[in-house]
Amino acid sequence: MGTPLRFDNRFVRALPGDPVLTNVPRPVRNALYTRIEPTPVAAPRLLAWSDELGAQLGIERPAPEGQMAEVLAGNRLLPGMEPYAARYGGHQFGHWAGQLGDGRAITLAELIAADGSRQELQLKGAGRTPYSRTADGRAVLRSSLREFLCSEAMHWLGVPTTRALSLAATGEPVVRDMFYDGNPEPEPGAVVCRVAPSFVRFGNFQILAATKELDELKLLADHVMREHFPGIESIEDWFRETCRRTGLLMADWMRLGFVHGVMNTDNMSILGLTIDYGPYGWLEGYDLAWTPNTTDAEGRRYCYGNQPHIAQWNLARLAEALVPLVKASEPLGEGLALYAETFSRAWSQALAAKLGVAALDRPGDDELVADLFELLGAVETDFTLFFRNLAEPTVESLQPAYYRDDLPRERLQAWLGRYVQRTKDEAGRVARMNAANPKYVFRNYLAQQAIDALAAGDASVLERLMRVLRRPYDEQPGESDLAARRPEWARNRAGCSALSCSS
Ligand code: AMP
Ligand code: MG
Repeated sequence: MGTPLRFDNRFVRALPGDPVLTNVPRPVRNALYTRIEPTPVAAPRLLAWSDELGAQLGIERPAPEGQMAEVLAGNRLLPGMEPYAARYGGHQFGHWAGQLGDGRAITLAELIAADGSRQELQLKGAGRTPYSRTADGRAVLRSSLREFLCSEAMHWLGVPTTRALSLAATGEPVVRDMFYDGNPEPEPGAVVCRVAPSFVRFGNFQILAATKELDELKLLADHVMREHFPGIESIEDWFRETCRRTGLLMADWMRLGFVHGVMNTDNMSILGLTIDYGPYGWLEGYDLAWTPNTTDAEGRRYCYGNQPHIAQWNLARLAEALVPLVKASEPLGEGLALYAETFSRAWSQALAAKLGVAALDRPGDDELVADLFELLGAVETDFTLFFRNLAEPTVESLQPAYYRDDLPRERLQAWLGRYVQRTKDEAGRVARMNAANPKYVFRNYLAQQAIDALAAGDASVLERLMRVLRRPYDEQPGESDLAARRPEWARNRAGCSALSCSS
């Protein structure tokens, strides 16, 4: 297996763990994690691997079956690994849910990567932990493939995210009621190996504040600052930095039309990373109220247009958890204001880049943008294709972005006239736009095609997507079918547009 990997497990070394080691669901107290090993699976087999991340970490692509595949499926530990499940809580759909925790994720170790960075290796779907509540600790192939590929696609788009190193089959069925209609079915199981400097969430702090474990709260805050925010020494400054990063992250999601789908506070990364890929989606028809998550179809709390507001709401819950650690709460309020400022500045810059202008600072720019979004919302218009094709601002070029035959030809023509006028002296317009408007995003119907093929034993669709999504802003002649708007057959097919939380 080449040179042995180096591990340095600072989280478990620095912080108090659960003194109880029995693996039964229970409330855990005075601890930030429980030591727990993955539960072995019947037939571990590597299905996919991220070469680029492997190189960054210094791990060679393993054989499909063998020692490393066993490690990546949870059947074997390497010397120096100290696995654990983290304790956290969270607000789910706006309500405090109490203790949640890593119910099926198990961190194996902190790796000293080839590039010198420290990276947590975490298996998702690795079996029950004390935080599993009533669930089975496992994950199905479809949701695991979605997490694996979207993590990498997000990184390639230039968005902060947790990464994914591998996708492994377990050879064991997992029973899920995919449609939540009372018809559970066995599905193939899988394990993803996720990678990030830290998987700490807002909820890791919230649970300690909720149970008034203030010593542990302080220990966790100090640890996170020391390890992940070098140069920052106060809670106030660190909170501001998390607010700033979250503001930038929201601008990235919004500029790309990414909808996370479940922005509960336990799914918010303290490092400002995209984390926990579940029923996410990419905006196809532009619609502020769109959500890919059928579980949220009624309230639409986590719909596209609400994301920036929800992120701030979540940051406010984090601030509340940190109040016991600060002398006065005003500086935390300033953090929330910094979030709003950061987001609005970054969003304006992102829009400028999407339109190919240096800045949206001329008289009439606000109207030009407002009228564009009104136009996009008037009839079903593909968000990704519209901006990509706007590099050539003609009705003909934009035609493929329209889902129906009702394209508003005259309105579009009129808006394009204003746009061409506005941008005629903008040097480098097309290059700027092509670097900001991806041609290829990981649309849900593409994910579903990769899942269907892989479930039938064919990894080629997944592999092709990995290759193409690696360069989302490049034209890549010959691959254009992967940039097409969602075909009509996929409009109402499960998984191809919207999907449930079942995973
Ligand atoms: P999620 O909505 O996927 O972020 O999950 C919320 C909580 O449920 C987290 O504590 C997860 O670890 C837990 N969870 C979700 N699915 C499972 C599962 N199959 N087995 C155990 N815990 C789970
Ligand atoms: Mg989660």
